Amino acid sequence: MEIINRRQRMSSVARKIRREQDKSVGLVPTMGALHEGHLSLVKEARQMCDIVVVSVFVNPTQFAPNEDFAHYPRDLTKDTALLTDYNVDYIFAPTAEEMYPKGYSTYVNVEGLSDQMEGVSRPGHFRGVPTVVTVLLNTIRPDFAFFGQKDAQQALVIKRLVKDLAFDTEIVVLPTVREDSGLAMSSRNTFLNGEEREAAKVIHRSLVKAKEAYKAGERNSGKLIELVRKTIETEPRARLDYVQVSNAENLERVEKVEDHPILITIAVFIGKTRLIDNIQMNLGAKKKDSLVKV
Ligand code: AMP
Repeated sequence: MEIINRRQRMSSVARKIRREQDKSVGLVPTMGALHEGHLSLVKEARQMCDIVVVSVFVNPTQFAPNEDFAHYPRDLTKDTALLTDYNVDYIFAPTAEEMYPKGYSTYVNVEGLSDQMEGVSRPGHFRGVPTVVTVLLNTIRPDFAFFGQKDAQQALVIKRLVKDLAFDTEIVVLPTVREDSGLAMSSRNTFLNGEEREAAKVIHRSLVKAKEAYKAGERNSGKLIELVRKTIETEPRARLDYVQVSNAENLERVEKVEDHPILITIAVFIGKTRLIDNIQMNLGAKKKDSLVKV
């Protein structure tokens, strides 16, 4: 395994693999501090592709001012050990200056999908994400790029980006990996103390309650939202940022769960740590191959 820090080296290595060796390349973009969620993407990439590249880059442009960019967990030594175990071929770990050299001034914006939820709560987030993914895809030109359903809005934004800008990369979205408690794995979980980790279980629990209500026949989005809100309120350490019931394909809000697959997305502060999660339902309606069952 080689660790590459330079964009130029990364693109020449990837070009060589494609042209001279005619091998397929899979990219797993991450911000490091790897956990089982990331590793599930790596495992799938390893199965599907000849060569696997994992990028480890805490992307400054996707953090809003006052967010946790400076404190975001970083441990490249541990990440490297994990990725060695998973037989990864290359780690691409550029510096911010390497990704955004002096004079950098091009940003990518995916309209519509970005203008809600994470895009509202985290101003600039969805300017930074498609921008960094564009630079990564252009540098590496992977056949496949792997993303997690944990960040459901991000996955839809990236799929739109790739379609609209005609990237020759297939986006693969994989299910959310959870702890036994149901808590979605996240690098930010390392910020939680013991009590907060207990409290954070309420996030998934609230979504499961909504899904159970749906299974029992509830179709009114307002009622499902209320149920999630009430469940979150039972936990004093939790503060709801938003909860939304949307059409899972285009994120348009829906009043009623009817003829579309549905996504309930949620963001919750546990103490100072902001965590997101989501759950899908009504997948039988106009089921699309692109949807992942979770
Ligand atoms: P991050 O390092 O948080 O930017 O995440 C990198 C990739 O891993 C993104 O595509 C995430 O959606 C994905 N990911 C993060 N957590 C999980 C999880 N618990 N299960 C599955 N994928 C995840």
